[in-house]
Amino acid sequence: MIKHHPDHNLLTEYCAGTLDWALCLGITTHLHFCSECRNTVAHLNSIGGSLLAQGPQEQVSQDVFTNLMAQIQARETAAVEFVAQSTEPPLHPSISKDRMLTNLPKVVRKLLPKDKALRWQTVSPNLKMARLTAGQDKYEVAFHRICSGGKVAQHDHGGLEVTVVLKGSFSDGDGIYTPGDFLVRQPGEVHRPTAAQNEDCLCFSICEAPVRLTGLLGRLVNPFLSVKPA
Ligand SMILES: [Zn+2]
Repeated sequence: MIKHHPDHNLLTEYCAGTLDWALCLGITTHLHFCSECRNTVAHLNSIGGSLLAQGPQEQVSQDVFTNLMAQIQARETAAVEFVAQSTEPPLHPSISKDRMLTNLPKVVRKLLPKDKALRWQTVSPNLKMARLTAGQDKYEVAFHRICSGGKVAQHDHGGLEVTVVLKGSFSDGDGIYTPGDFLVRQPGEVHRPTAAQNEDCLCFSICEAPVRLTGLLGRLVNPFLSVKPA
């Protein structure tokens, strides 16, 4: 059962269209799992719609009105065509054969490369990471995969980090996190995630800055850690 949700401010910014694209990806992923937040988003959207309807009205020229309606019509047509074509191209065999990467939320699946394998990098003995291309330049969007029972080195965060659990589960000093859970870590928050014993844990992560490992290991490794928004 999902226990960790985006807060009301994040959901309001999401609905208002003012949230960074990468964070929108995290929230859309959470919404795939969470009917409670889907209801909140529907409610916020209906409030936004009625606020617009109650706003002051301006007279516009016939040309401007005709142009606007043509643009709306074109977008609706494009959206219908997009849905009609949404039979997705097949994934690279190395991805489609990986049990951890099947049945992912559609928003995440769309970020998977179609013509090449994911490039998994070993961050530490229990942790692998594969960067994804999300078409933005502020946050690194990536999968983090902790092997079953694996502990990740204790670290804090150099910037905002949003994590949505996709498969399996992990725990830290603050709780246990299962599929759909949405976590926000602020700079300076220290934790040490450990995956459950029974299976690997796959997370969808959006990071503003690299993590900083604590202790001696950190002094050795931190200079080499970086994020690569894409
Ligand atoms: Zn939720």
